[in-house]
Amino acid sequence: MNVNQSAPPVPPFGQPQPVYTGYHQSSYGGQPGSTAPPTPYGAYNGPVPGYQQTPLPGVSRAPPSSEAPPASAAQAPCGQAAYGQFGQGDVQNGPSSTVQMQRFPGSQPFGSVPLAPVVSQPTVLQPYGSPPTSAQVTAQLAGMQISGAVAPALPPVGLGYALPPGTQMTGPPGPPPPMHSSQQPGYQLQPNGSFGPARGPQPNYGSPYPGAPTFGSQPGPPQPLPPKRLDPDAIPSPQLNELPPQQKTRHRIDPDAIPSPIQVIEDDRNNRGSEPFVTGVRGQVPPLVTTNFLVKDQGNASPRYIRCTSYNIPCTSDMAKQAQVPLAAVIKPLARLPPEEASPYVVDHGESGPLRCNRCKAYMCPFMQFVEGGRRFQCCFCSCINDVPPQYFQHLDHTGKRVDAYDRPELSLGSYEFLATVDYCKNNKFPSPPAFIFMIDVSYNAIRSGLVRLLCEELKSLLDFLPREGGAEESAIRVGFVTYNKVLHFYNVKSSLAQPQMMVVSDVADMFVPLLDGFLVNVSESRAVITSLLDQIPEMFADTRETETVFAPVIQAGMEALKAAECAGKLFLFHTSLPIAEAPGKLKNRDDRKLINTDKEKTLFQPQTGAYQTLAKECVAQGCCVDLFLFPNQYVDVATLSVVPQLTGGSVYKYACFQVENDQERFLSDLRRDVQKVVGFDAVMRVRTSTGIRAVDFFGAFYMSNTTDVELAGLDGDKTVTVEFKHDDRLNEESGALLQCALLYTSCAGQRRLRIHNLALNCCTQLADLYRNCETDTLINYMAKFAYRGVLNSPVKTVRDTLITQCAQILACYRKNCASPSSAGQLILPECMKLLPVYLNCVLKSDVLQPGAEVTTDDRAYVRQLVTSMDVAETNVFFYPRLLPLTKSPIESATEPPAVRASEERLSNGDIYLLENGLNLFLWVGASVQQGVVQSLFSVSSFSQITSGLSVLPVLDNPLSKKVRGLIDSLRAQRSRYMKLIVVKQEDKLEMLFKHFLVEDKSLSGGASYVDFLCHMHKEIRQLLS
Ligand SMILES: [Zn+2]
Repeated sequence: MNVNQSAPPVPPFGQPQPVYTGYHQSSYGGQPGSTAPPTPYGAYNGPVPGYQQTPLPGVSRAPPSSEAPPASAAQAPCGQAAYGQFGQGDVQNGPSSTVQMQRFPGSQPFGSVPLAPVVSQPTVLQPYGSPPTSAQVTAQLAGMQISGAVAPALPPVGLGYALPPGTQMTGPPGPPPPMHSSQQPGYQLQPNGSFGPARGPQPNYGSPYPGAPTFGSQPGPPQPLPPKRLDPDAIPSPQLNELPPQQKTRHRIDPDAIPSPIQVIEDDRNNRGSEPFVTGVRGQVPPLVTTNFLVKDQGNASPRYIRCTSYNIPCTSDMAKQAQVPLAAVIKPLARLPPEEASPYVVDHGESGPLRCNRCKAYMCPFMQFVEGGRRFQCCFCSCINDVPPQYFQHLDHTGKRVDAYDRPELSLGSYEFLATVDYCKNNKFPSPPAFIFMIDVSYNAIRSGLVRLLCEELKSLLDFLPREGGAEESAIRVGFVTYNKVLHFYNVKSSLAQPQMMVVSDVADMFVPLLDGFLVNVSESRAVITSLLDQIPEMFADTRETETVFAPVIQAGMEALKAAECAGKLFLFHTSLPIAEAPGKLKNRDDRKLINTDKEKTLFQPQTGAYQTLAKECVAQGCCVDLFLFPNQYVDVATLSVVPQLTGGSVYKYACFQVENDQERFLSDLRRDVQKVVGFDAVMRVRTSTGIRAVDFFGAFYMSNTTDVELAGLDGDKTVTVEFKHDDRLNEESGALLQCALLYTSCAGQRRLRIHNLALNCCTQLADLYRNCETDTLINYMAKFAYRGVLNSPVKTVRDTLITQCAQILACYRKNCASPSSAGQLILPECMKLLPVYLNCVLKSDVLQPGAEVTTDDRAYVRQLVTSMDVAETNVFFYPRLLPLTKSPIESATEPPAVRASEERLSNGDIYLLENGLNLFLWVGASVQQGVVQSLFSVSSFSQITSGLSVLPVLDNPLSKKVRGLIDSLRAQRSRYMKLIVVKQEDKLEMLFKHFLVEDKSLSGGASYVDFLCHMHKEIRQLLS
């Protein structure tokens, strides 16, 4: 059965793709049937029953990576209150002069909506236990005590109600409750990435492969922090005199009476952090991404791989339309796992390849039904009855289950891999190992900033840490080097040469690769020549006066080199300026801030030429992934330059006004992590669904040439693809809905594999079941991506309004159909979505949708493309930053301090706080902090002597200093990009930057406060209901 010949419901990777010109799958179907004895499936290593125990015996852990920690952050142009990282230069120059230090000017956006008294309603407990699911939350107007007013609300039909212990919304305002904190595991990079136990020799697959995930050392399990009360006296009371006049006249809503992200996060940690999440039950909502938990795969993919907006899907499209809850899955196919969890097992079905449904091409999975004594199986996706090939036959037990079900990953686990056969390879040829090409801008700016010298020096050691697979002693990845300004310089670094040779290509309009032999080499073989080259590059260009650069020809050259070498790979581009030199892809400065808030604003996000899309398409066809490191001193048109990285599954990093002294740590951390991370190359992803729903829309860094196949020149463990589903038929409560994500890719060692993730969801005929099984963090991830894509085609105001309307419809539908009768004045939120308003408001007022004066066009384009690939944990902290008080909890405490809400009201001027959002890291110092604390942390005697904008804390030998520095390290380890520290003093001019991240407050750019937005949302809901 050739995949390409097979019928309509197109196969997975079989579909005619531009890239894979023809997979000829060998057939197993036609083989003599009947009861052949079960073959010893050589599949995943050896003794069968053992496969569930995590690490295989004798598995060698990889050596800890050199220092792979996360890296990088956003940035802003020099002299501006930069976006992300506020590069040192930015800090020194201070915030842009156009921005005044002041409290919210102007009136409130959503002025006078009166919020009626809010009564909190009981919570419904989910069937499986602790986590509250569908309770109703209410908010209240200040002054109106809700107190124990657990209204005698009637439960939605058929639901048993129980009051969640200590639901904060219901109580009278008071000090925040005790909180616990747990440490998030920061998954460190594996220096030699293997995706788990494997086997099976394949061409280009050298070493034995002792399998087992090799993760670096990790922080231990979470330790509960002793419960601790926050000091109410330390929380400044609302400064009414600073509020706009009309707000004074209103009753102030007690912030403690509206749903608190901190409380929800803490509750989930307490309720669900201690038990492993076992995936055996269909439709289970996983713990929140902010909860540290272990996963046991018992037939459904771990939430680390797939998270859904809802785990209970409406049976009909009418219901779905009524609720307006987007049905989407955020999929991270190559997600890294904590060391306690096993990486997917690799199954080898030999020459016949993975077993699949003949009709829909779904892969064998735990949900397939074996019938007729095991001789056939019914596809769980399309219901087609398929023959079981003789070598796969096995008897069934009395329940109809195969007796070997638990011995085979593909019959018992949610996630696993298949070794692909040659039919799954381009041109029916097993792939060569991939190559990395380093392409370095050596124009004037790159040399002057010290970048070139720093980079060359770093590469000398970093090349020893290229991704390896399993127990391989050295990486199979070959490397090549190019430097460029207006012309390109290729280097021959063949091991037999005494010195590297340079070849210049000045005809950038018609790029070709001047040498094949000696361009891509093995690092250890050519080490001496490579070292010599890296020593010489900074010297060769030390006196350059060339300021102009090309860009598209550089990518073209790298791609051509990979094509000539017949391999996939990755280009690492280090680039400084707008490419204005005469060449294909030449750009002009078209930045125009006057376009903001006009109908033409969208053009700022659109690429200024179609040349880069065309180039990206060629790159994808070659499996050429592009990672771009930008070092701009001014506008470089990130929107255009990031097109190729975006469409090839690559990453973009931006270091505005790069200076070695200030930015080297951040850049090098990012670079190390990026070079070492495990990547799947030349990948195609297909998401199959059971009858009734189908994938209709996709978000992320990839390319699509048809409506179903997500093509990824490269895919790493940080990147997600968000998939939206729509109904095309009625679903069935009994059978539920199934998803299967199949990723075909080439591993770092050149092995062709298929990674399969399966997930079963429930289906419902009652809307209440939908609302009870939603995941707000995932909803926000989807909605942010949807909105950020929307700005390409619509004015940002339209995009914002669309989000608000959808959110109001979601909540109004709940109110109308699920909530118990109550006065229209009450705002009632579903328990699972009680944070939807606060989080949505953060998306609405983010820099992409509502930029402040200090945010540049490049910043916005940069953040826009970053968010596109973010997972749920990343969007969660990005939109609602973590704010950690440092001196409130005992110094001895080993865990992270409990966070407080991101609002100025929560800051005590006698304390010090860390704030992080995955890209930025601030240390805020209150003006009345004890002198001892100042001394311990900064080694100066008073607050006034602390240097504002400091980015490194002195290394001091005292408990507080160690604790704070340790915490900073731990926060950095949890994030995929290095966060540069900025010390901000209370009342200092830099404080304005910091306040930008206090997202519950009104923002300078006009973004609503949480309270105001909640009022507005309530008004919208009431209008929909009336
Ligand atoms: Zn099927």
